[in-house]
Amino acid sequence: MTDQPTAGRAAAAPRATVYGYPRQGQHRELKKAIEGYWKGRVSAEGLREAAAGLRRSNWRQLAEAGLGEVPTGDFSYYDHMLDTSVMVGAIPARHREAVQNDPLDGYFAMARGTQDVAPLEMTKWFDTNYHYLVPELGPDTVFAADSAKQVAELGEALALGLDARPVLVGPVTYLLLAKPAPGVDPGFEPLTLLDRLLPVYAEVLADLRAAGAGWVQLDEPALVQDRTPAELNAAARAYRELGALADRPRLLAASYFDRLGEALPVLAKAPIDGLGLDFTGPGAANLADLAAVGGLPGKRLIAGVVDGRNIWINDFEKSLSTLGTLLGLADRVDVAASCSLLHVPLDATAEPDIDPRIARWLAFARQKTAEITVLARGLARGTASIAAELAANRADLASRANSPITRDPAVRERAAAVTDADGARSQPYPQRTAAQRERLDLPPLPTTTIGSFPQTDDLRAARAALRAGRIDAAGYEQRMEAAVAEIIAFQEEAGLDVLVHGEPERNDMVQYFAEQLTGYLATRQGWVQSYGTRYVRPPILAGDISRPAPMTVRWTSYAQSLTSRPVKGMLTGPVTMLAWSFVRDDQPPADTARQVALALRDEVTDLEAAGTAVIQVDEPALRETLPLRAADRPAYLHWATQAFRLTTAAVRPDTQIHTHMCYAEFGDIVQAIDDLDADVISLEAARSHMQVAGELADHGYPREAGPGVYDIHSPRVPDTTEVTALLRKGLAAIPADRLWVNPDCGLKTRGWPETKESLDHLVAAARQLRAELA
Ligand code: GLN
Ligand code: ZN
Repeated sequence: MTDQPTAGRAAAAPRATVYGYPRQGQHRELKKAIEGYWKGRVSAEGLREAAAGLRRSNWRQLAEAGLGEVPTGDFSYYDHMLDTSVMVGAIPARHREAVQNDPLDGYFAMARGTQDVAPLEMTKWFDTNYHYLVPELGPDTVFAADSAKQVAELGEALALGLDARPVLVGPVTYLLLAKPAPGVDPGFEPLTLLDRLLPVYAEVLADLRAAGAGWVQLDEPALVQDRTPAELNAAARAYRELGALADRPRLLAASYFDRLGEALPVLAKAPIDGLGLDFTGPGAANLADLAAVGGLPGKRLIAGVVDGRNIWINDFEKSLSTLGTLLGLADRVDVAASCSLLHVPLDATAEPDIDPRIARWLAFARQKTAEITVLARGLARGTASIAAELAANRADLASRANSPITRDPAVRERAAAVTDADGARSQPYPQRTAAQRERLDLPPLPTTTIGSFPQTDDLRAARAALRAGRIDAAGYEQRMEAAVAEIIAFQEEAGLDVLVHGEPERNDMVQYFAEQLTGYLATRQGWVQSYGTRYVRPPILAGDISRPAPMTVRWTSYAQSLTSRPVKGMLTGPVTMLAWSFVRDDQPPADTARQVALALRDEVTDLEAAGTAVIQVDEPALRETLPLRAADRPAYLHWATQAFRLTTAAVRPDTQIHTHMCYAEFGDIVQAIDDLDADVISLEAARSHMQVAGELADHGYPREAGPGVYDIHSPRVPDTTEVTALLRKGLAAIPADRLWVNPDCGLKTRGWPETKESLDHLVAAARQLRAELA
């Protein structure tokens, strides 16, 4: 913290800060400690010590990097929304006893469930790939303040001599992200509990003030979504009341992931002391909006100018220009990432495999922290004080803009030449389906699976052996071929109609393709929290994308050589490839999607040429990537459907295109699903008792569909009567000649015994109904 302004001048001089930092530690120590605790190998004390050590080392790193104020309370054993439920005492009735007996075990029971009680539901945190535990509230919910965790963590940071700012999920966002508890009227609106919740926040704020907090940050990302006037009024009331508290720390309301829009004047006028705004991506609109409301006179602004959810270096000149404008709009301007750095990996220098030409374009959490401090210094002391950093940044950006990696003329020419016709099948569905029926000769209610079969320890061990050099590529391929042969033999025996090769060779449905495409990078240590102790390594779309060689043809062809039944080729679609990767920020995502689509289109063409009659292109992420604001959705859905169609449209009429999506709620995108023009779609439906079948019918969906009849999320085996009953529901909505019979999703997380039994039942149910129909 060498060249930071001294405390006396701090009120005016711009400082650097962040809202949160990756929790897991350099070597995912937190994951190991927590999972060790679950297995009884680590004591509660051991876990607490490991966690405290990680927090300390994070704060030290941040302070050494030059952060003027560190965040506290952003750490979590599992999830910050769950921590908030604990903080406000919203413990579901079914978990209360466990929490009373042992708060730590009760906490994990809420997160993961136990033999006897179900966990809280988990869902995506806005449009990120982080998942939070959904608060369960009802008219009888009684809140009670428990500020212990927040107070303790603030104390730890203050004890290190740091200036610290507790970060809490704000009350409005907390309620807007909650849902009615089981048994409560589904129409119940948690926001109606605001008046009961505010006194609890008041108590926590008073506790934090007493513990030494000068500032407290309340995160309100839910206010960047479209909000009703009633919801905006609730936000206004919340901050009027919190602002009016007598004994409170100074309050800052932070927003991120998009522009605040109508909520900006609400928060700007609230009697609180500051605002955090996102100035990256669609958040850039905050700049003009802030000027339009007359800025934040007398208040502190935290300017999120460094993208907190992507991994590219910042454009210093652009950020300094934004910051310069903002100086005129607030009393004090601090520099930050746009959101918590939770959403990016820890350290780009831990990636020795990445081409050094690309490495200089990357900024993970550590590098972003350094960028933020440079910008704060530039803002405080003038650009001359950061001349060297500015020059280096300019050179790095230029090297990216002019690199053959980001500018591949062949890829660009091809993408520029794409026309609407490239996204259109040569014949409409009625003619295609006739040709497909003739070629495939399937029974009514054809049976199939979604692609993957169990990923056994044996398969994972083979991959580890290949990586470690204990077996060579030929040895590995032999093992995978043996697995494919076993999977084909099983499906023939089970009597399935359209077979799959089973995806034994795929570590992950995105990474597998990323590793084979030029311009796409995998990382070694780029772990990002998905939920709890589950971390993923999203690949990086770094350059122009091309496909040097076929990626899947050998596996599908090998599988097809073993059977006379059709084997379905299996690809991950362009939208999902983008959604589960870090996407380049130097061109619109639509352009990147088009490049990926063209590479996949070649794969589709090669599969078809190799004799594949059925090709599935999975798009489980189509809905989750939907922009937060409704106004931005049509443009997204347009490029997303175009990319899918570009991937799939080149095939002959008698080649059948399938797609797959995992979710059950798709009412808001059913038109987009229709626009994909896939011949067959499979969807998750077992848990919702085939509700999607009815929704497809209501929409008038004209093609074939396979609403799932086997819930693959649990080891439970559905019996034949259960599957038959679901199929009857399906038949009530979709005619027999357009209804497919399949599980909800892939089987990779299942074991073999339950998979075999369940698929036997699925085939038996289809046969029974065929007999009835005949
Ligand atoms: N084909 C993939 C599988 O079966 C689809 C997975 C998914 O939709 N998430 O595993
Ligand atoms: Zn799925």
